[in-house]
Amino acid sequence: MKFSELNLKPEIQKALTNMGYEDLTPIQEQTISPILSGKDLLARAETGSGKTAACGIPLVQMIDPSINAIQALILVPTRELALQYVEEIDHIAKLTGIAPFAVFGGFSMEIQKAKLRDRVHILVATPGRLIDFLYNTKTIDLSSVHTLVVDEADEMLKMGFIEDIDFILSCLIHEHQTLFFAATMPREIERLIHVYLKEPVRIELNKKQVAPQSLVHHFKYTERSDRLNTLIQYLKKEKISQAIIFCNSRHHGEKLARELEKEFKSIGYLHGGLEQSRRTSIFERFRQNEITFMVATDIAGRGLDFSHVSHVINYDYPFGLESYTHRTGRTGRMGRSGIAMTFVTNQELGVLKSLLKTNRIDPVWHGKIPSLDLNPGAISKHHGKRNGKNRFQKGPQPVVRSRIFSNRRNDSDSSLVTNL
Ligand code: ADP
Ligand code: MG
Repeated sequence: MKFSELNLKPEIQKALTNMGYEDLTPIQEQTISPILSGKDLLARAETGSGKTAACGIPLVQMIDPSINAIQALILVPTRELALQYVEEIDHIAKLTGIAPFAVFGGFSMEIQKAKLRDRVHILVATPGRLIDFLYNTKTIDLSSVHTLVVDEADEMLKMGFIEDIDFILSCLIHEHQTLFFAATMPREIERLIHVYLKEPVRIELNKKQVAPQSLVHHFKYTERSDRLNTLIQYLKKEKISQAIIFCNSRHHGEKLARELEKEFKSIGYLHGGLEQSRRTSIFERFRQNEITFMVATDIAGRGLDFSHVSHVINYDYPFGLESYTHRTGRTGRMGRSGIAMTFVTNQELGVLKSLLKTNRIDPVWHGKIPSLDLNPGAISKHHGKRNGKNRFQKGPQPVVRSRIFSNRRNDSDSSLVTNL
């Protein structure tokens, strides 16, 4: 289906053409009309499927720019995601006179306040900062909000934001539409949906297919002591346009970034402890392709769209299946091809086994293949030789649960998840 068939405001249609958006993605085909008709909605789709525009386009269509009030509120888990979301809406709304704006922690509240007093129609916010505004100032008036969006609902849960979301949802007592977007649907999210959504339209795309199809999952079995060297060799010989290299803690990421700086020119390091200005600058430089290798903690794995990323490298093995999905979802987006490379040491063989089964991953091994004691022969595939068969189609249910990074926090936003 084409956007031109949707009867959008001409200013939106023109902007979409300028953005190169012609055909709707599958999630957009299913969500845009129910949103426009005012229904509550729960949409579950893989990362990189175009959820931002699936929501952003109907929101912009529904806003009345002649009313100076916040008419749509979007909650996102991280600052970077807030920036990215607002940027996408900015593009869609460019010719409409509609003003989107983002508030998040680590940035002057005074400046944000001034903008809020001036003119904002669509507000994108991280939960902590929004609550600061709701409690401490009278700057935010949500009484005209007709659509409330919770993006990356499953990440909100994982980051300990669920009570904040619950609180914000409970603040909006007037009639309004509520939309939830997520890649996975844990039970706690179902509970919120049950409480706050009215007969929601449920859209589930690719329920069985967790990762984007265009992603190839590579693995390298290595000794812990050899890992750094293995990574350096890999970065040198592999054709990489841009890579995100994930570590599990700030400390470890910092050490790795320092080591890599000795070998490569273009290294960035993104984690939750950086000052906002620095974080934004690294983020932007990476987006502009001025940085080739970016070391990151999981903070960079959440919903961000880096379209040049050809490789996601799990230097540290991710905590939990969902983290694997989110990290690797940073590449292979919108049908572009991407490679996920995960380093595995002896300690992770047990969890790896369930990852391969549950996410139905067809692994491509580099070098030695560890014995995982699955169906004999099922996973032993050498680099370059793919038979396309997937033995795990009827695999058992998940056995490894994602580790919760932190419990609920009181601070402004994600930067204070101390380890990330
Ligand atoms: P998700 O939130 O589902 O992970 P995003 O909304 O970040 O995915 O979209 C992924 C990428 O696809 C972005 O670069 C976005 O600009 C692009 N995109 C979205 N919709 C379309 C479309 N209809 N046509 C072309 N590109 C699109
Ligand atoms: Mg998204």
